[in-house]
Amino acid sequence: MKTILIKNGYLVTMDENGSKIYADILIEGKQITTIASKIEKEADKILDASGKLVLPGFVQSHIHLCQSLLRGQADDQPLMEWLDTITSLEFRHTPETLYASARIGIAEMIKSGTTSIIDMGTLHHQDSVFKAIEESGVRAQAGKAMMDLTENLPPLLQESTKDSLKNSIDLMHRWHGKADGRIRYGFAPRWQLWNTTELLQTIKQEADKNPGVGIHGHAGEIEYEVEAMIKQTGMRNLVYLEKIGCVGSNVQMAHCIWLDEDEYKVMAETGTHALHCPCCNTKLGSGIAKVPEMLSKGINVALGSDGAPSNNNLDMFIEMRLASVIHKYRLGAEAMPAEDVLRMATMGGAKAIGMGDQIGSLEEGKIADIVILDDGGLYASPMRSFEEDDVVKRLVSSYQSACVQTSIIDGQVIMEDRQLLTMNETEILEDGKKALADLWARKRADEAN
Ligand SMILES: [Zn+2]
Repeated sequence: MKTILIKNGYLVTMDENGSKIYADILIEGKQITTIASKIEKEADKILDASGKLVLPGFVQSHIHLCQSLLRGQADDQPLMEWLDTITSLEFRHTPETLYASARIGIAEMIKSGTTSIIDMGTLHHQDSVFKAIEESGVRAQAGKAMMDLTENLPPLLQESTKDSLKNSIDLMHRWHGKADGRIRYGFAPRWQLWNTTELLQTIKQEADKNPGVGIHGHAGEIEYEVEAMIKQTGMRNLVYLEKIGCVGSNVQMAHCIWLDEDEYKVMAETGTHALHCPCCNTKLGSGIAKVPEMLSKGINVALGSDGAPSNNNLDMFIEMRLASVIHKYRLGAEAMPAEDVLRMATMGGAKAIGMGDQIGSLEEGKIADIVILDDGGLYASPMRSFEEDDVVKRLVSSYQSACVQTSIIDGQVIMEDRQLLTMNETEILEDGKKALADLWARKRADEAN
């Protein structure tokens, strides 16, 4: 069994007590087996973390890898207009352009400290996304987007309930548990306006039957959506989802901005997870989720970036900083302390992906999903010491992705000294450029016909 020893780091463990300690970490296979002040053992690989921080890797809880190519393609447009522009490109993906898109997104996330992602796919060619995930070494829940109530949209954006279910369930059988458990399937009903009740009820039954399979959607992102939901179903999003039985600890809903008290109650009582995307929500003018209130009601909140065109980065440091400051205007400077924000980015995400007992903190027995960060350099210095200046506050308010040095996922070193070991960064960038040009060429050709 391969072993890795991380020496002399300052561990921000994110365990229940929020312990921060100087210690060594021994990893055997994929597991953290020992955390102790001095481990005198031989190991296949020794990583010296002197003067550095060691953290559980971030969990990016809401991503669209299919949109990474489309960064900056619909800036300064409100959500419905933005959606038109982005979907008109997204649904012209070939397996090759989708693969290029997924790789760019995954590489950016690994380089900014993310070790797990929850991804919403696009309608077709989802195997390309899984292939990119498998090769990269990242941990992921992913699944094809489901859109079976879209008769008002162009044919490229439509699928029947039967086909949507069949294709999704086939993908689940093909990919769930693959890469030694690193890959999980997540049904991805895009949003309730575009899905039938039959589809939502069927995928909930499937997810309940298959441990580790999740359901990942959007809910309460904009006011228009809530009004349309009431028109369509007579109910607001979460009340509707509860009524049809599609809530619970295997259900993750992005945004959760326009929710009322009844919907918070549903989330808290059923363990349905909220995925907060502060940068996307402010950029698109959608609103700001009431995260401090949700946390105080016992709702699990994770943090995500959403897709590259709605952000425009897939960088957890940007999300953490924004999540810490946007609530202070309304609730005062003491709202959303750094510890709570970092917890959303780690344990919050781990719970959302259904792995709260396996990842999200540095503890003996957990899986080794670990990142090593430098001392903050020009971004976060000077500090008297990590302890005296409470480095968690620096992490949330000042650290940047460039501070992430090394990443270990599932016990494998995926990045060392900022070099990706599983992917060729130059090739990824070149392929991305070609794929974007290809998407635009096909959109223009279609529109000319
Ligand atoms: Zn989204």
